[in-house]
Amino acid sequence: MGQTAHEHGTTAVFASVEKACRERGLRLTPLRRQVLELILQAGGPVKAYDLLDSLKTSHHSAAPPTVYRALDFLLENHFIHRLETRNAYVSCFHPEASHSGQFLICEQCDQVTEINAPEMTQGVLKAAAEQGFKPSKEVVEVYGTCRKCIE
Ligand SMILES: [Zn+2]
Ligand SMILES: [Zn+2]
Repeated sequence: MGQTAHEHGTTAVFASVEKACRERGLRLTPLRRQVLELILQAGGPVKAYDLLDSLKTSHHSAAPPTVYRALDFLLENHFIHRLETRNAYVSCFHPEASHSGQFLICEQCDQVTEINAPEMTQGVLKAAAEQGFKPSKEVVEVYGTCRKCIE
């Protein structure tokens, strides 16, 4: 079953991220932490320039490269995901395990739900290997109508 980071609870996500940082010796700087917090609070896909706007109120020196570096850190460590077709960022509900992003995106209400279908990843990787193709990242975005909007 899918779950959004919002339902999972921001506190729980933060705890997982902090734990992962301690274990992997990563530094969750105040800016990185704040960017993560903003994405978690958004509860849906958020664009880099929206993050920049929000950050400017507290970090007057926040410039695009600073925000992109913080986003890269969060992405590289699988603490957030990037929706490729939307060019937007979403929080991850299970940041403790590295995984590729798989999402259900509602065309009516914009709700994004992360799903976990490892068999899909395995299928894609197997097919890619058969082509002698070496994948660097894999993002699955399924568009449609969510349960709430169907009702
Ligand atoms: Zn995830
Ligand atoms: Zn919907």
